[in-house]
Amino acid sequence: MRYIADLHIHSKYSRACSPRLELENIAEGCRRKGIDIISSADFTHPKWFAGMREKLVEAGNGLYKLKAGDKGSPVYFLLSTEISCIYSKGGKVRRLHLVIFAPTMEVVEKINNKLATLGKLASDGRPILGLDAKELLKIVLEIDQRCMVIPAHAWTPWFAVFGSKSGFDSLEECFDELTPHIYAIETGLSSDPAMNWRLSKLDNVVLVSNSDAHSLEKIGREANVFEIDDSVSNFYDEICRILKEKDKNKFLYTIEFYPEEGMYHFDGHRACKIKMSPEETKKKKNICPVCKRPMTIGVMNRVDELADRPLGAKPKNFIPYKSLVGLDNTISEALGVAGKKTKVAVREYENLISKGGSELRILLDLSYNELSKITLPEIVEGIRRNREGKVKIEPGYDGVYGTVRLFSEDEKKENKQTKLL
Ligand SMILES: [Zn+2]
Ligand SMILES: [Zn+2]
Repeated sequence: MRYIADLHIHSKYSRACSPRLELENIAEGCRRKGIDIISSADFTHPKWFAGMREKLVEAGNGLYKLKAGDKGSPVYFLLSTEISCIYSKGGKVRRLHLVIFAPTMEVVEKINNKLATLGKLASDGRPILGLDAKELLKIVLEIDQRCMVIPAHAWTPWFAVFGSKSGFDSLEECFDELTPHIYAIETGLSSDPAMNWRLSKLDNVVLVSNSDAHSLEKIGREANVFEIDDSVSNFYDEICRILKEKDKNKFLYTIEFYPEEGMYHFDGHRACKIKMSPEETKKKKNICPVCKRPMTIGVMNRVDELADRPLGAKPKNFIPYKSLVGLDNTISEALGVAGKKTKVAVREYENLISKGGSELRILLDLSYNELSKITLPEIVEGIRRNREGKVKIEPGYDGVYGTVRLFSEDEKKENKQTKLL
C-alpha cells in the first residue's frame, strides 16, 4: 500500500509555532492533507514527551497512534525530533539542524536523559545544544543503532549542513569518519532533488522531503511517498531500510515545494528589498546595492558553488519527485481572489476536502472527471496546470517566500467575474 510520510514537523513548544500543534490536531490535520505517517515532533521537550507517553500507544506496526483512537483512517506517528547544534569546528562557527528518528519511546527516553546533561531541553521544542553534530550522531547511535540522523533542510543559509553562512562544503567535513552513518539529507523547501543531483558527492545519500511545519496548515507541504507491503511487521525499520538502501522500488517519489517558492532560493536583502539571481550577485560581488553590506546568499547560489554537474544531470538510482502547488493556492489562483485566506477560497477548500477526501488525494489521485463533479471547472483547470507543472514563480529570497502563479492576471480577472464572487 502507498504511505505518504512527513517526518519532520514541530509542536506548540517550538519557537514561532502554532499553539494548535497538539497531537490530536496533528492527526486530524494529516487526515485532511492525506498524510499517513507523521513525525511525533519535538520529542526532546519534557512536557511534549510526557504528552506523547500519555496520548500515544504502539500501533502494532512499529509506529505509534493516538490512544483515544482516530475518527477516520489511522494516522501513524514516527518518533522524530529536531536539534539545533551550534559549535565551532575548523575555526568557524557552525550552526546546523539535525532530524533524529528513534524506534521506541524507551530509546527516546534514553536520548533525552543523555541530552539533558548537555543543554536545556525544556527551553524550546527544537533545543539548541553546544554540541558538535558528529558527537550528536555518535551519542544517538551509541544509544541505539536503529536511530537515524538526517541533516535538516540541508541548504538553508543560516542553519544547515551546507548553509552559506555557517555550514560545511561536504558531509565529510562535518561528520568525518562517521559520514557513512548519514544515509539521507532533507532537501528543504528552497531546493529540490534536481538541484541536489548536481553534486556527485551526494549520489550516496537519499534525498528526503518533509514539511518542517510550524502550523497545522503546513503539514505535508513536502513529503515522502513509500510503498510498504502489508506483510511488513515493523514500519519504522522498513522506512529506515528503504532510506539506507535507497530502495527505488519502495521509495516511489517525494512531493516538493517549487524551490523558487522557498524563502531562500535567490540571493538578496529583505530589509533593502533587493533580490537577485546568482549571476547578478556575482557581478555585484555579493554586495547589496542599497546598504553596501554582503547579501544573504540563497540556496541556488550555494548549490551552484558546490556543484560539479550541470542542471538536468541525473545520478544513477535517483528517486523521482513531483512538484506541487498547495491546494489552497491553487483555489485562490483559479478563483482570481486576493489570497488563500479569503472567505470564498477557504469555503471552497473545505468543500473540496469534504468531498474529495484529502488534499493530496485531490492533487494527485482523483481523475479530472471525478474532480469536475465536486468543484468548479476553473479549479479543475488549476489542478491540471498544477499536475502538468504549468507554473510561473517569483523566487523567494532572504526570508521572503516566493510567489506562485497558475493563471495570468487576465485569466484571473475573467474567472473572478464569471463566478460573480
Ligand atoms: Zn530546522
Ligand atoms: Zn542591503
